[in-house]
Amino acid sequence: MPGEEAFRAQVRGWLAANLAGEFAPLVGSGGPGREHEFVAERTAWERRLGEGGWIGLGWPESDGGRGLPWPHQVIFYEEYARAGAPARVGHMGEQLLGPTLLMFGTAEQRARFLPGILTGTELWCQGYSEPGAGSDLAAVATRARLDGGEWHLDGQKVWTSLAHIADWCFVLARTDPAAERHHGLSYLLVPMRQPGVEVRPIVQLTGTSEFNEVFFDDATTGEGDIVGAPGDGWRVAMGTLAVERGVSTFGQQLAYQREFEAVLATARETGTIDDPELSARIVEAWIGLQVMRYTTLATLRPEPAHTPGTEPNVAKLIWGPWHQRLGELAVDVAGPAATVTGAGYDLDNAQRLLLFSRAETIYGGSAEIQRNVVAERGLGLPREGR
Ligand SMILES: Cc1cc2nc3c(=O)[nH]c(=O)nc-3n(C[C@H](O)[C@H](O)[C@H](O)COP(=O)(O)OP(=O)(O)OC[C@H]3O[C@@H](n4cnc5c(N)ncnc54)[C@H](O)[C@@H]3O)c2cc1C
Repeated sequence: MPGEEAFRAQVRGWLAANLAGEFAPLVGSGGPGREHEFVAERTAWERRLGEGGWIGLGWPESDGGRGLPWPHQVIFYEEYARAGAPARVGHMGEQLLGPTLLMFGTAEQRARFLPGILTGTELWCQGYSEPGAGSDLAAVATRARLDGGEWHLDGQKVWTSLAHIADWCFVLARTDPAAERHHGLSYLLVPMRQPGVEVRPIVQLTGTSEFNEVFFDDATTGEGDIVGAPGDGWRVAMGTLAVERGVSTFGQQLAYQREFEAVLATARETGTIDDPELSARIVEAWIGLQVMRYTTLATLRPEPAHTPGTEPNVAKLIWGPWHQRLGELAVDVAGPAATVTGAGYDLDNAQRLLLFSRAETIYGGSAEIQRNVVAERGLGLPREGR
């Protein structure tokens, strides 16, 4: 295994050589509010990453991964962000479903599904939220029943990111209608390209559609495409959420650093840097960056057995609101130019940052829910009335 600096040089070299030619236009593409950009090309890029062996870096070699230690994975994400490589279309497979299968999947499921993620040839989406089940996820009402050797699904999911390009969806569904709340749920792997699945895009504040509504109308999947036992889906689903924010967070730090630098550059260009209120907010933003760097370091532990306490909740409560304030600062330092909008106009980075970051205190557990977790689990405060 190469040492850390040799590995960094390897990653840099590969990215420089491959983020060229047909992939050169992808630099900086596909981020929040820009998911519509170069979708086919970013899908091809996912396959190129797979060919290069850059997917599943930390997965065991016996499951097709590279078994690389944690610092090597951090280096990859840092270099990926530094190179401005495009937003991944395969992150839900690599970051969520893959680790879930490594924890709970059978040998057959791992052999069937992990290669598609590792080669970038099968894309996944996450089917948890429903119109009546977001923060209160245990209220999931989508039904699945076993009939003729297949699971048959009926119901609706919502806010399903990238469902429009996904080949498969990991779905939390109720398989025992008599059981209440988190009992009687199952974790099913459902092919998206079938007549019983309809995907309807939802237009977001940015004018683009990163997420969708997904309707199941007698959609089917194989009897064996269930992770864990029937009725044990809650435990599996919670396992997925526990891995939701892994080492890729370090790449996010670098992306934030770059956004901050862009805000600073704009403030210099527009002269708004001389405004004492704005320059004080620039300093606050920089301090926030440092806080996030150290919180991230504290959140990520190399030991695989480490069960995080409330560190991920605290981290999210720091980065979500911080990024929203950066969005507000970005448009304030830009001045009147930031107010331009209208049909046919493509939002600029500051405007996108302002608008997309509104979602960041909602997804992955809203800020209110994170505070409840910190209060109840972290501080042992009385449980809120449900
Ligand atoms: C950009 C984006 C992408 C997403 N992608 C996906 C995806 O790919 N797959 C998926 O399954 N889901 C996805 N989601 C959904 C996301 O997980 C939910 O939006 C989130 O869990 C909140 O649920 P909700 O929208 O139903 O809001 P609700 O749960 O209805 O909450 C509404 C408001 O009430 C507050 N609230 C609710 N309960 C409590 C409580 N007990 N105490 C205090 N306050 C409370 C919430 O904090 C929030 O402010 C995505 C969301 C966004 C914004």
